[in-house]
Amino acid sequence: MSLQERINEVQLRIDQACERTGRNSEDVHVVAVTKYVSIEATKQVLDHGLHHIGENRLQVVKPKWEALGDRGVWHFIGHLQTNKVKDIIGKFTYIHSLDRISLAQELDKKAAQGNSVIQAFVQVNISGEQTKMGMSPDQVAGFLSEIKDLKHIHVIGLMTMAPFEGDPEDTRPIFRGLRELRDELNTMAVTEQPLEHLSMGMSNDFEVAVEEGATWLRLGTLLVGKEEEEGWES
Ligand SMILES: *Cc1c(COP(=O)(O)O)cnc(C)c1O
Repeated sequence: MSLQERINEVQLRIDQACERTGRNSEDVHVVAVTKYVSIEATKQVLDHGLHHIGENRLQVVKPKWEALGDRGVWHFIGHLQTNKVKDIIGKFTYIHSLDRISLAQELDKKAAQGNSVIQAFVQVNISGEQTKMGMSPDQVAGFLSEIKDLKHIHVIGLMTMAPFEGDPEDTRPIFRGLRELRDELNTMAVTEQPLEHLSMGMSNDFEVAVEEGATWLRLGTLLVGKEEEEGWES
């Protein structure tokens, strides 16, 4: 399948999932995760009109960003070491993996220096799997009130990763859990403005995520593809 065909196919499946649940497909945004592909392939993605680009490894991002940075809106989706924050400020508009106070403080400090505001999703480990990053659901309210005064981070929602399931239906409780947590936090009014967004759903499970309220999907393999020959660890 060509890139255009994959884009069409993904959009159709998003539209159908929206239709099943009475959602508006304009409320579902796609981050094209280009972490598995080259600069050239990333350029193709941008040429095809996908503007939101997701990356998770800074060593690989640097040359890509230098070549294509001003053409897209960049989302950092991986674990971020505090001492690497300086490398993303001014390049990435969004971070999907805000998971601790020290990272929030450093992001705020560096964003303030650059006179910018970073849009953030708090990463939550809904599944409780040891291997998954993110804070536990019961830590989020406290975390949000602790970072409330950091003016250079704007928390717009929550993010989670579901464990890979042979049957995507099995991921539903995870996505539902993230939505319920967001709604509960909004009822408690722990943030100045209600949390709007849910970053959830990957190649294997995005339709279930849409049905459960995802507003940002992070799609790599299915949409952009994967260049095995690059030999990157994943
Ligand atoms: C790699 C990655 C994705 C994309 O995964 P695919 O299954 O290839 O769609 C999404 N989110 C995060 C955090 C990732 O690391």
